Amino acid sequence: MRIVLLGAPGSGKGTQAALLKARLNIAHISTGELLRAAVAAGTPLGLQARAVMEKGNLVSDEVVLGMLEERLGLPDVASGFILDGYPRNEAQALALDGLLKRMQLPLDLVVQLDVPEASLLARLAGRAKAEGRADDSPEAVANRLHVYQQQTAPVLEYYARAGRLHRVAGEGSVDEILGRILALT
Ligand code: ADP
Repeated sequence: MRIVLLGAPGSGKGTQAALLKARLNIAHISTGELLRAAVAAGTPLGLQARAVMEKGNLVSDEVVLGMLEERLGLPDVASGFILDGYPRNEAQALALDGLLKRMQLPLDLVVQLDVPEASLLARLAGRAKAEGRADDSPEAVANRLHVYQQQTAPVLEYYARAGRLHRVAGEGSVDEILGRILALT
């Protein structure tokens, strides 16, 4: 099973992706996690990405695509994957279609976790306290939501136009939401 999970910052993508990984025995590929690992390791890519991420902006398409391609080449991908945090703009959606076609890994499911903006703000404020992530400052959170509306919302339209988008209500208990996604698999 190959799944793309879409949703705003704070929509619960990371939480659901981790549960889906365990349930379906597939790889969880989070471009945000891959980038944070590169930052922590101090690789040239990480050094380049760090300031961009701290402001809540998108890292360049080229860098993220290269990282993703490398990750998709690892053996665990054979059992399937859940992609979390990619694609984040229309160019990435097109690049992903091209890459997966070339790798002969067609997607089975594209899911959007739909959460009203007021809930997103409350959740992100809570997470800022709990996790202290560098990009959970009030300014960076506001910018990430703005970037999502401007750049990632068109990705939803891209899949919807092609009749590929499944919307799931992202409010309720974690288990309820997981059940809604699993019902689509
Ligand atoms: P969230 O969904 O809460 O914003 P992520 O972990 O998915 O958290 O992403 C954190 C940051 O990593 C983003 O704000 C962005 O700077 C960078 N990032 C992650 N995925 C991508 C991507 N596909 N393209 C560009 N930048 C990305």
